[in-house]
Amino acid sequence: MRNNTSNFSNIPFQALFNEETILSRVKELGLQIANDYQGKNPVFVCVLRGGVYFFSDLTKAVPIPIELDFIQAKSYTGTESSGNVELIKDLDSEITGRDVLIVEDIVDTGRTLKFLISHILSKKPNSLEVASLLFKEGGEAVGYPIKYIGWNIGKEFVIGYGLDYDGKFRNLPGVFLYSED
Ligand code: 5GP
Repeated sequence: MRNNTSNFSNIPFQALFNEETILSRVKELGLQIANDYQGKNPVFVCVLRGGVYFFSDLTKAVPIPIELDFIQAKSYTGTESSGNVELIKDLDSEITGRDVLIVEDIVDTGRTLKFLISHILSKKPNSLEVASLLFKEGGEAVGYPIKYIGWNIGKEFVIGYGLDYDGKFRNLPGVFLYSED
């Protein structure tokens, strides 16, 4: 399902998923999620900042009552081997007893998600599921089932649709392969 489309010809990166393809997949996920959460009033949690476009499109594609909240964690690349993750912004809502869906941009090593799952589970929600637009090879190390996945990808570094390289490229209207040349 990878495509290089002419409408991205002005962007010097190879497109993996264009905006149209993403929106169509997001709509499918939205209907599946709406079906699973019928009558439950779940809380959708956006993982800032990368999850922002996926979250925005996904929540609009879920035609049932839901509530929105935001969380942010920071991984320390300098101490990657120790896997330090710190909470930068916690949820504002009380989620004890609620049905919670974490909405992530990408699961790579799964370290950030593992941290967030454990943090949210400590607040005793009724249920906790995860939606991730992209799931990288090896992400299974998170040790928690990711119920909703847009696409499985390889180990390549991707940018756009919320994903950055050094703070840039988040606003590209699709997912692209990052390359230096
Ligand atoms: P983790 O390795 O903990 O699963 O990934 C943590 C974070 O690293 C992700 O939420 C994302 O912000 C960033 N990340 C991982 N892989 C990529 C990638 O291919 N591209 C970009 N832009 N960020 C990534």
